[in-house]
Amino acid sequence: MTVAVPGSIAALPRVVGAALRVPLVTGERVEYANLDHAASAPCLEQVRDAVDELLPWYASVHRGAGFASRVSTRVYEQARDAVRRFLGARPGDTVVFTRNTTDSLNLLARSLPRHTAVLLFDTEHHAALLPWRGPHVRRLRTPASPSAAVAELDRALAAAPEGPRLVVVTGASNVTGEVWPVAELAAVARRHGARVALDAAQLAPHRPVDLKALDVDYAVLSGHKVYAPFGAGVLVGRADWLQAAEPYLVGGGATARVTDRGDRLGVAWSAVPERHEAGSPNVVGVHALAEACDLLGRNWAQTVAHERELLARLRAGLATVPGLRELSLFGPEHDRVGVVSFVVAGQDAGYLAAALSAEHGVGVRDGAFCAHVAVHRLTDGDRALRASLGLGTTVEHVDRLVAALRSLVLDGA
Ligand code: PLP
Repeated sequence: MTVAVPGSIAALPRVVGAALRVPLVTGERVEYANLDHAASAPCLEQVRDAVDELLPWYASVHRGAGFASRVSTRVYEQARDAVRRFLGARPGDTVVFTRNTTDSLNLLARSLPRHTAVLLFDTEHHAALLPWRGPHVRRLRTPASPSAAVAELDRALAAAPEGPRLVVVTGASNVTGEVWPVAELAAVARRHGARVALDAAQLAPHRPVDLKALDVDYAVLSGHKVYAPFGAGVLVGRADWLQAAEPYLVGGGATARVTDRGDRLGVAWSAVPERHEAGSPNVVGVHALAEACDLLGRNWAQTVAHERELLARLRAGLATVPGLRELSLFGPEHDRVGVVSFVVAGQDAGYLAAALSAEHGVGVRDGAFCAHVAVHRLTDGDRALRASLGLGTTVEHVDRLVAALRSLVLDGA
């Protein structure tokens, strides 16, 4: 089932609830300025329409000859093709649907061959930082420049134990929005015979991601960050390790055959991707994810231009707020997506976030963004504010945030 969308759209895809109004402490209602796209992006209107179209028909996939079951199975399998296109997967790659990025990375971690050496930088989101276990996990301190990161990985791989190796890297930091040198890191990994897993959760909503062009082996993302509702994510990449691994979630769907052998059961697991999709799959969520991928994939030029303009405006505006310091791993000039975290001297991040919401109708994130090591290091504390942009953001939202911050900081001075 596909929603009819013209091949080329001049206007930006529109988000659901663009003109939502929220109450302020004064009782006045204002348009909600959602500057928290990095946490979860609002649903696109065309994604909502695609979901609406499927709702009367959804049924269990791969489990019935009935019409609805056949429709759902087709939609579900077509979604794999959409994700494959969106991420530039290779012909032999498998597409496993999961709940989200966290689930995808945990699945990959449970599927590694024994004694795989895993290397990663320590400023990763916890979803990428924590799932890896065992004596061969090496967390590298994030250096101050992308080229130093490449050199550091080179050194660490040269010293890594023989055997399978995996480098885990983020596409864009969820703290600073900075884009990581993925292709360069992948080239180094290749030279040392290592595979690369790309956490694309934060990059994929903002820039095209292509496994072939980047030469990475796996990519993961979450539907709710690419303008679909919650509930579906994906792990795409080389099939062999996943095919050799026991499923970490077992049940129907993951099993090709179960036989009664008297004192025990004989279980033959399904081949990938079903092997790692036990239970009734989230066909509606997967359909939404696929529609969102298709839409983003058809609108990169407008999306990137829109965000670039807003990001420049946001950063210029934030620079006028007294005492505000932007967080950065690689320096202020380094390429970044529409995510900016900052601290304001003498101001509590939690207080500012609450006041921005209650007094100005602006939604931002505060805290350590599930990347505690990164936020600690960059703030010398444990809290920052984060404003993040996307297709639901307008110039007025950005200007309102800047004006509100200025007045809160100047009033509090
Ligand atoms: N990786 C990055 C870079 C993220 O920004 C996030 C979410 O913020 C995740 C992983 C985890 O995503 P999810 O919570 O959808 O599993």
